[in-house]
Amino acid sequence: MTLPFAATLPRTFVAASEEQPDDPYLADPSIRKLLKFFADKGLAALKEEDRAERWYDDWLVFQAAHRIYASVLSPREYSKLGHQLDLLKLTRLLEVFAYCSPGHGYSLQVSFLGLFPILMGTNPDLKREAVAALEAGGVFALGVSEKDHGSDLLGNTFTVRESGQGHLLATGGKYYIGNSNCAAMISVLARKADPRSAERARRAPFMMFALRPAKSPAYRNVRKIRTLGVRQAFVGELQVADHACSETDIFAEGRTAWDAVFGTVTLGKFFLGFGSIGICAHALAEAATHLGARMLYGKPAVALPHLRTMMSQALARLAAMKLYAYRALDYVQAAHAGDRRYLLYCAVQKAKVSTEGVKVMALLSECIGAKGFESDTYFETALRDAQLIPGLEGSTHINLGQAAQFVPRYFAGKDGHAVAPPASLQTGQARRGENPYLMEARTGGFNTIAFSDPLTAYRPLASIPNVRHFVRQAKAFSLFVRHDAGAAMLADAEGALLMGRCAAAIAYAQLVAEHAALTQVPRPMIDSVFELFVNDLSGLALTLAAFRGLDERGRAAARKLIVVPTAATEGWDLWADRLGEFAGVPNSG
Ligand SMILES: Cc1cc2nc3c(=O)[nH]c(=O)nc-3n(C[C@H](O)[C@H](O)[C@H](O)COP(=O)(O)OP(=O)(O)OC[C@H]3O[C@@H](n4cnc5c(N)ncnc54)[C@H](O)[C@@H]3O)c2cc1C
Repeated sequence: MTLPFAATLPRTFVAASEEQPDDPYLADPSIRKLLKFFADKGLAALKEEDRAERWYDDWLVFQAAHRIYASVLSPREYSKLGHQLDLLKLTRLLEVFAYCSPGHGYSLQVSFLGLFPILMGTNPDLKREAVAALEAGGVFALGVSEKDHGSDLLGNTFTVRESGQGHLLATGGKYYIGNSNCAAMISVLARKADPRSAERARRAPFMMFALRPAKSPAYRNVRKIRTLGVRQAFVGELQVADHACSETDIFAEGRTAWDAVFGTVTLGKFFLGFGSIGICAHALAEAATHLGARMLYGKPAVALPHLRTMMSQALARLAAMKLYAYRALDYVQAAHAGDRRYLLYCAVQKAKVSTEGVKVMALLSECIGAKGFESDTYFETALRDAQLIPGLEGSTHINLGQAAQFVPRYFAGKDGHAVAPPASLQTGQARRGENPYLMEARTGGFNTIAFSDPLTAYRPLASIPNVRHFVRQAKAFSLFVRHDAGAAMLADAEGALLMGRCAAAIAYAQLVAEHAALTQVPRPMIDSVFELFVNDLSGLALTLAAFRGLDERGRAAARKLIVVPTAATEGWDLWADRLGEFAGVPNSG
């Protein structure tokens, strides 16, 4: 019998030749095809391509032939093949994709980023054209970042000008653009300048337009930026000089362009967390296999008490990442104009899930020994690529800053306007599929988003010692938020990031608790996860209590967050048992 939590906990993947209707992943033909492609390629070839930074034409031909990207990205309204943008199908595919090869998976992540702003825009002809290109096997790119401006989009200088007779000319450069060597269409963020007032170009309104590199002689100087991770992928610099385009290439202007960028980045970067989960699961499998086979002093190395503890902690942290991410997906699936809580949970996913992945990799690295320095392993890829994801997400700081903006409403306690927590996709209570609202979502107004009392999430778990400790900490933080010191910290740029860090830790634990209760994760295992959470939040509380400028009363309020967890011995034994399921599983080679 499959236990409900089995679908939510980390797992390994091996290629299956036949449909497996009882396995939520292997029931999907796109996932089975993907696993087969990478099993046929083998780890040795994958590592060789990674070392040579070789572009993956073979994969793109394969995915085009099997319409793999189209099967997860085509929205129902424009699909000619009967597809829809099924969020659960997409996120599971992204998880398995990164399990096989994060570098290849990047081309799908970027395709979402390139396609989605067009879907959020106002140009139906372009939507039809883009989805037709996707269903013909094409991939996409998002051209937002510029070399000199990083996160400061207001500093962007890529410009589109009128040339007369209804023509427009686009000029500028973009930097760190994935798929820029092969995209059928690039969604470019630009400023629409008035040629008569060049001095106002820096203040010109934003717009987004579609660039088709294959049809643009002005598209030039595309070069690969060599990166530490995702080395087979193409992250490029591009230049465009007087590219002729027209009003029909524009799909968003002014506020709509801003909303399209924000809406796309919110979701696209949320999806990266599922990649982190796949990366860590594969690295954990390799580490557990190695330490299970390595005999030290007459016993498997993994039986050494400290290795058993750290490996179990790595698995429990990874399990929490997955519980969080798929519960956050429930909020994304259920989102509508009257329920935009997903904006907080997406920001928290970006600030927490991939950075937890970096912690998982640090734990595994400490355990695996010299094997972790061999470079013919998936593990070596994981070490590089897990670190890259927080960078790809924009920046952890920006995401923490976003989380901080939700603090007043999230900690306001019971809110009469709040909607009940959504049903779960994993348990089958929520209807899976596309959420058309996401294509019309609008930015801003964070302070109008109502939350129900987050402490209700812990009620079904109130008998668990470390959950009770955590609730004490969460209550202490919510008092700190209402304290003068909390308000002053939110008004301070650095203080707000620290408040965002604490709030993210609490919102992360809330969704882990919700999902663990819904999927009936055994209570001792939840106790272990919350032992880690209590520890983490106590560590943050020390930083909070020592924050510059806090008076004695503020410091005393912050100290109330420091709590010593209970050792969850029974739970750690259960996590150690589950570790066995990771050992001995063949990797993709
Ligand atoms: C491998 C890779 C692939 C990428 N793919 C794409 C792509 O396909 N398309 C695309 O458009 N871009 C892409 N990017 C760009 C990515 O989104 C950038 O990381 C982003 O533009 C930010 O620039 P930056 O990393 O240089 O950081 P900067 O903006 O220069 O930031 C420097 C530091 O300042 C901090 N900081 C900046 N702003 C704030 C703030 N408001 N609050 C708090 N701290 C702040 C940052 O956290 C960071 O520590 C990619 C990047 C990489 C590494």
